[in-house]
Amino acid sequence: MGKPTGFLEIARIENPYRTEEARLRDFDDLHVAQPADVRRAQAARCMNCGVPFCQSDFGCPLHNLIPEWNDLIYRGREREALERLLRTAPFPEFTGRVCPALCEKACNLESDALTNRDNELYLIETGFEKGWVQPRSPKTRTGRRVAVVGSGPAGLAAADLLNRLGHEVTVIERADRPGGLLMYGIPNMKLPKAVVERRVRLMEEEDVRFLLNTEADPDALRDYDAVLLCGGAKKPRALSVENADAAGVCFAVDYLTAATKAVLSGEAPAISAKEKTVIVVGGGDTGNDCVGTALRQGCKSVVQLEMMPAPPAQRAANNPWPQWPRTLRTDYGQLEAIHRQGEDPRVYQTTVKRIIVGAGGAIEAVETVRLEGFEPVPGTEQTIPCDLMLIAAGFVGCEAATAARFGVEPDARGRMLPGDGSHRIRDNLFSAGDMRTGQSLVVRALADGRAAAMEVNEWLKGGSI
Ligand SMILES: Cc1cc2nc3c(=O)[nH]c(=O)nc-3n(C[C@H](O)[C@H](O)[C@H](O)COP(=O)(O)OP(=O)(O)OC[C@H]3O[C@@H](n4cnc5c(N)ncnc54)[C@H](O)[C@@H]3O)c2cc1C
Ligand code: SF4
Repeated sequence: MGKPTGFLEIARIENPYRTEEARLRDFDDLHVAQPADVRRAQAARCMNCGVPFCQSDFGCPLHNLIPEWNDLIYRGREREALERLLRTAPFPEFTGRVCPALCEKACNLESDALTNRDNELYLIETGFEKGWVQPRSPKTRTGRRVAVVGSGPAGLAAADLLNRLGHEVTVIERADRPGGLLMYGIPNMKLPKAVVERRVRLMEEEDVRFLLNTEADPDALRDYDAVLLCGGAKKPRALSVENADAAGVCFAVDYLTAATKAVLSGEAPAISAKEKTVIVVGGGDTGNDCVGTALRQGCKSVVQLEMMPAPPAQRAANNPWPQWPRTLRTDYGQLEAIHRQGEDPRVYQTTVKRIIVGAGGAIEAVETVRLEGFEPVPGTEQTIPCDLMLIAAGFVGCEAATAARFGVEPDARGRMLPGDGSHRIRDNLFSAGDMRTGQSLVVRALADGRAAAMEVNEWLKGGSI
């Protein structure tokens, strides 16, 4: 159980961010990893509580065996700790970087919680460094063929498990690189793309096939024994204001994709914030990624509009531990904007009333209005200059075209969620990840991909699911 008095003696130490000044100069990893002695001391703080909420439904969606691997890290038995971790976590190098660490918010130590995410990252990176992570192909093959559509975390997790179960797996991906939002969405500084590519290479060595630049076509998939749709939920919520299609107005994921392509190619981005006055519509995590990216590209200024009021600093009475705390968080991009501009870029209870375009048809300014209970307050309009508007107002489900091609009617929230709550839509067709649940988190997509893989496996074996 770690050190019995560890949590009383040792303070929580997270992997710190590099300074704003240093990290704004590049798109490299935000964090600085800590050495083994720090991680072992951090793991010693785990109390192995009678009821470990960290691995319950309130905590880790993968139900990672957190107290067990923390104890092994404390004892310096990292290789065994990694084996315990890999029993439930397919790709800790992703979750160890981008997971919001639901487990830590559910920890009995509350705000002083264990640093599970950093410990998990330490384990997997130590495993890669020491050569403990090697291709693991199954000894026998079942002869059954499964097509996985989409190579985001859900598709990768499902492909990984189905392959380990002995099926022959082909991942079909429309983009030029695998990874879904891990590749084109989450910026490089949060998740370096070399980390995604390293995992894909490993899966290829384990005999998973990736077909890139390929649109999934049901006719071409006829020969597969099962098809699992993991196409994500990237359909963005549009702004219903005049001139929303003007030049200089674009959706956040398109902008972030162009930014990552530029980082990877070394060429100028197709959409750039350089020397632009940027307005990000949406105060959430995607909006924060746009703020951090625009600052790195050298924008003149950046403002982030949010319709909701600012969340409280402390948990509200109706949001007790171990629930996820709906409190004010200031993320890396916002911290960088405060550093660069001297104030928080977020403007709450405010929305776009009008987009003003210039003679050439490109955006020039935005008229905003303050909201009270989602209603515009007359007389609060303000016109602010803007030559790049990034819409990060959320997502409304899966793409209609893919759903139609596979003859599936998404529900009112744009999800391919089978009515019985399973992953099987009909016959040999299954769904998983954001496409099934709506836009969520990497860790939830991984868990859903694995759950779907188990159902596909049962179905292929001819059992009930
Ligand atoms: C900007 C941004 C930042 C985020 N940051 C975080 C974060 O820090 N932490 C976190 O936990 N979550 C984050 N998320 C959420 C997380 O990325 C998603 O929940 C997760 O990626 C969903 O995984 P998925 O596999 O279901 O779908 P996706 O990752 O969306 O992958 C779907 C894939 O399917 C492919 N595809 C779709 N249709 C077809 C077709 N017809 N044929 C072939 N291929 C197709 C797409 O090209 C895509 O590659 C973020 C989301 C965004 C938008
Ligand atoms: S995947 Fe996320 S919730 Fe699960 S142990 Fe890791 S950091 Fe915690």
